Amino acid sequence: MGPVDVLVFSPHPDDAEMGCGGTIAALIGEGRSVAVCYLTRGEMGTRGDAETRAAETREAMKILGVGAYVYADIPDAHVFNDAHNRETVVRMIRQFQPRLILAPYHLTLHPDHVQTTALVNDAAYLSGLLKIDTGQPRHRPARIMYYPLHPKFDPTLVVDISSTFKQKMDAIRAYRSQFHDPSRPDMPQTLLSAQDFLDRLEAQARHFGSLIGRSYGEGFRTDLPLPVGEARELLQIL
Ligand SMILES: [Zn+2]
Repeated sequence: MGPVDVLVFSPHPDDAEMGCGGTIAALIGEGRSVAVCYLTRGEMGTRGDAETRAAETREAMKILGVGAYVYADIPDAHVFNDAHNRETVVRMIRQFQPRLILAPYHLTLHPDHVQTTALVNDAAYLSGLLKIDTGQPRHRPARIMYYPLHPKFDPTLVVDISSTFKQKMDAIRAYRSQFHDPSRPDMPQTLLSAQDFLDRLEAQARHFGSLIGRSYGEGFRTDLPLPVGEARELLQIL
């Protein structure tokens, strides 16, 4: 699997789909290449196991049109920003050579999510250093943008996902082991399995969309200002 325009880091299976699945589908629909790297296989999840979730991921990726997805095989619940994991992520960045990286925003509950932000930030910088030798050409992405994994999120920019919102929700529903299943009341309950969880995700997409006058949106944050190289670009982002 070779170079892509955009590389998405997802701490667990289903995070990327929830945080930026509509944008992934929209990018692919517009002919851009996107790869998704799942840092873990989600084997510590309260519901489902690694095998079930792998089958669900296969279906979700197919729905979004993603051909290239990989697992970094960091143990679930052990996503630490340490030397070993940084090298693992550097290898992924150098393999895919993205211009843009999408990663979770650090204001979120699961420690794996919080750690992923710092881990990806550090690895993206280290990946550009010549003397970090992984046997691959060095590569530094132009930018990292953060997607939300928590309702409290103040976006810097919003992508219109009105045309891919259904795809996004279908991809999320592919993770049947994680979400509300009325036929399985015996399953342990989690934050995600609450009956109205998907309604809340829709409300967030409606909210982000409303900020830009569209039906559905996905919000992103970027710490550094977005460059406007030529003033006429101002007229393209309206
Ligand atoms: Zn997660």
